[in-house]
Formats: sequence, C-alpha cells, structure tokens
Amino acid sequence: MLGLMQEWPLLCHKIIDHAASQHAGREIVSRSVEGPIVRMTYADLRTRALKVAQRLEREGYKLGDRIATMAWNTGRHLEAWYGTMGIGAVYHTLNPRLFPEQIVWIMNHAEDKCLFVDLTFVPLVEKIASKVPSLKQVIVLTDKAHMPETSLANAVAYEEWLAEADGDFAWREFEERTAAGMCYTSGTTGEPKGVLYSHRSNVLHAMIACAPNAMGISARDVVMPVVPMFHANAWGLAQSAPMSGSKLVMPGPRMDGEAIYELLDTEKVSFTAAVPTVWLMLLQYLEETGKKLPYLKKVVIGGSACPRVMTEKFQQNYDVEVIHAWGMTEMSPLGSLGTMKPEYAGLEGSARLDIQEKQGFAPFGVEMKVTNDENEDLPWDGKTFGRLKVRGPAVASSYYGGAGAEQFDEQGWFDTGDVAHIDRYGYMQITDRAKDVIKSGGEWISTIDLENLALAHPDVAEAAVIGVRHSKWDERPLLVVVRKPGKNPSREELLAFMQGKVAKWWLPDDVAFVDEIPHTATGKIQKTTLREQFKDHRLPME
Ligand code: ADP
Repeated sequence: MLGLMQEWPLLCHKIIDHAASQHAGREIVSRSVEGPIVRMTYADLRTRALKVAQRLEREGYKLGDRIATMAWNTGRHLEAWYGTMGIGAVYHTLNPRLFPEQIVWIMNHAEDKCLFVDLTFVPLVEKIASKVPSLKQVIVLTDKAHMPETSLANAVAYEEWLAEADGDFAWREFEERTAAGMCYTSGTTGEPKGVLYSHRSNVLHAMIACAPNAMGISARDVVMPVVPMFHANAWGLAQSAPMSGSKLVMPGPRMDGEAIYELLDTEKVSFTAAVPTVWLMLLQYLEETGKKLPYLKKVVIGGSACPRVMTEKFQQNYDVEVIHAWGMTEMSPLGSLGTMKPEYAGLEGSARLDIQEKQGFAPFGVEMKVTNDENEDLPWDGKTFGRLKVRGPAVASSYYGGAGAEQFDEQGWFDTGDVAHIDRYGYMQITDRAKDVIKSGGEWISTIDLENLALAHPDVAEAAVIGVRHSKWDERPLLVVVRKPGKNPSREELLAFMQGKVAKWWLPDDVAFVDEIPHTATGKIQKTTLREQFKDHRLPME
C-alpha cells in the first residue's frame, strides 16, 4: 500500500521560491568584482534568477545543457546557478586556479555550451575559448560600463543581456533526479573526474547541512561562504543558506585576511566556512592587528585536516566554536562534522581538542564504514584504521562518463580513497589519503598526525610529511617545514619537540626546511610535487 501524501519533487528552485516568500527581505551582500559592496535580497535574487532562466531559454539552452561558471562568490554567481537550474540546465563550476590545459580538458569533457565569467578571468578565457568547440557564448558577469575590450566572439555584458528579459517566466518542470550541477575533482593524479549532482541530491544535502548536528544554520545567522562556489559545490551553502533564510555575505574576489576580516566585522557574520589555509591568513591578520571577532560564533573548517592549534586559537583567543568537517566533491560534499554528542559535550581544554582533531560523525543521510583490503568491516574502536567507505542520497553513484568505476561497489559503497578510524561513538578520524600514507616496515604511519604535531611548535608556519625511500623500512617519514618569519628552529629542536608525543617509530627521520609548500587548486598540500622534489633525499641514517 502506498502512502497518500503529495508528490512534491525536490527541485532546487523551490529553495529560492521559499527564500523569496519566507525570507524576502533578507540580504545578500557581495563584495563585487568591480570593487564596491553591493546588496540585494532573496526576493531580488529570485526575480533575477527567473530572468537568467528566461534569457537562457531564449538563447536556446535547454534541459541537460551544461552552463559553465568561472566566478568568485557573489550574488550574480548565485543567480546564474539558480537561473540555470530553473530550466533544467546544469551549472558547471570551473576552478580558475587549475592550469589552463586542465580547464580546457574539463570543459571539453563536460561539453560546456555557455560560460558565465567574472572580469578577473576574461584574459584566461580569451586564451582557452577557441580550444573548446562546444562553447557558443561567453557572458561576462558585469555591466556595460565595465565591459572590457575582448577578443572573445559572442561575449556580452551580463547586465545588458539580463535587461532583455522581463522575468515573466515560470520555472520549467522536470523530475527531481534531473542533473542540477557539476563539479570536477582536482585530479592530483590522473584525469579530473566529473561529479554530477541532481536536484534531489542538492535539496537533500542542503537539509542535511542545515540541521543542528551538522552546520546548524538558521534565519538568525549571517553566513559567509568563504569556500568558493567553484570548490566542491560551495559545501552546500549556496542551497542551505537560502533554505534556512540566513543572510548571506559573499566575499567576492578578495580573499586576504584584511578583506575577510572587514566583512566579518561590518556585516556581523556569525557563521563562516573554508579550508585551513584561509584561516591561517585570517589568524595571522588578527595577531598582527590585535583585532577581535565579536560577532563570529562558528567556523566550519575542512578540505584538509584542521590543525589542533587552529581550533585552539579560534576557541581560546576569539571565542569562536570550530566545527571540523570532512567531505568530498563526490559527497555534495558533506560527509561528517565534529559537533558534540552528549558523550563528549562536557569535555574541556585539551580533552575537547582531542575530539575536535577528529573529523566528526556522519549526519543522517550518510552511511559510513571502514574496511580492510579484503572489504571486511573493521571495529569502531577509535584506532583500527582502514579504507573509509560511504553511501547515501547525496553521494555520487558514478563519475560522469564512467571513469573510476572501481571506486563503487555493488552495495552502493563508494571508496573515498581516505584512510580513517571510527570511535565507539561514531566519530571518524582521517589518518591519511590512501596514496599519502607512509608504509614503514609493513606498518602505516599517519602523515596528518605528524603534521598536526609539528604545527603545534610555535616557530612552524606550515608542515608536510611525506614518505621517502629507505633501504630497510621501504619508506620513512620526512618532515618538510616552512618556518615562521624571523624564526629559526633547528632540525634537532623540532624532532625533540615531537618526541614522546607519538610512537617512537613514527618520528620523522629528517627535517627539510623550505620557503614554500606547494598547494593544489583547492588549497591542499600537493604531496605529489613534494615527493618528486624530495625523491633523491638521503636520510641521515642511510
Ligand atoms: P579535491 O580532490 O578537488 O581537492 P575535495 O574537496 O573533493 O577536492 O577533496 C576531498 C578530500 O579532501 C577527501 O577525500 C580528504 O582526503 C580531504 N579532506 C577533506 N576534508 C578533510 C579533513 N577535514 N581532514 C582531512 N582531510 C580532508
């Protein structure tokens, strides 16, 4: 027997309809690419997104067409997403930090037909557009007055293009499994892989994200997604903020500590989210200027492991709660968040920080397990680590075009490529990416644990641990360190600092000092490059 409840397809434009009806006057504040701070409301956003939809349809775009965006976080970018989804076309976010050849590869693989681009990236697009035969049109997210001279054929200024629509338009109808958005993983090894979100998965993911066990945002929050919309679906904030009616603050092109601080302060941001490298910049800015964060309540940190010292500083020096989160482009992207269950809620000081080093527990909608290489489940004892596998309604079922099929099994489990353990209360801790873990004499050493430890030394600005060849043990850890300006810790001092805090055989065999550690386009340490750089490094004991 079927229930007698209404069919109400989970479509993304329902989010913006809801925001415009229930939270009509709530602001979306953007630092525009042209410079000034601009303001609009959810009601405006809906009106303008309808115009985008109407205009796209008039150009001939239709259900399933891929519409690319290469843009910072702004209100315009958001309305381009919602307008695209409103006709059943697919927003495809491009990460401008990738190499141009990678962007060309990705655009061709996705067969993008149209591109919304920020002024910042017009020169980049001029270089690559001719290499993407499917691309018919480039819409520059600016007005006529700021429209640059460009060699791009069929380039138009967004505001002029939009002005040709009157907004008298209804969202198109289609089923909830229709593709809504697309995002490629960076592909540090091999080709990038496309993840194709559906309307249903985006809506469910937004509901998961809003809940108190997860991000816990509401209409009383002022949410600033610092994580770019071109990185892993903006961690769902482009949907969960309008769904909960939060005021949105979009940081635009300026990502430096001062600019981020300015918006946190003037717009009274209560909730923000980004990768650790961004917060490193902000904390440095705060330390240099002596400024405080009176309005900020919560910061979600993920994308790579959040160093313990970072959590400690936010909480102790600025009274901001840190939520350590883990996720992947393939998971829309939230996989786990470190909010407190009653079993841990009473912990304070370093005992609390111990728990916050973990990446948290899976919210409803994410199933999680760790297995050994024989695909047998491992115990949830907080120490036995293995392959982390997940499944759920907002987890990819395959990659676009069928690459990486070996990562998905018949029971729907997706092998994340991460190595982790889970404790008795369900809190998961990533110890490594499978390809980064150090295998020393048949045992595994967690590079993330060692990095965290090194970062706790006051003179260390950044740390990375990689495995280097060893005649007896196969691989041994090498600690690569960027020193803080004006500080000069020695190899011996750093090793002595780490001693006693991890198993003896985990201690790095050597320390190398560098001026800079390479990062990927999504702010992760580029270990492949580091391994290449140090492939001939001879350990002192060798
Ligand atoms: P990309 O692969 O394009 O850089 P993703 O954000 O999809 O982008 O990367 C997902 C990976 O990032 C995860 O598989 C994991 O290795 C790593 N990651 C994400 N969050 C964390 C975290 N909190 N701690 C450790 N690693 C993390």
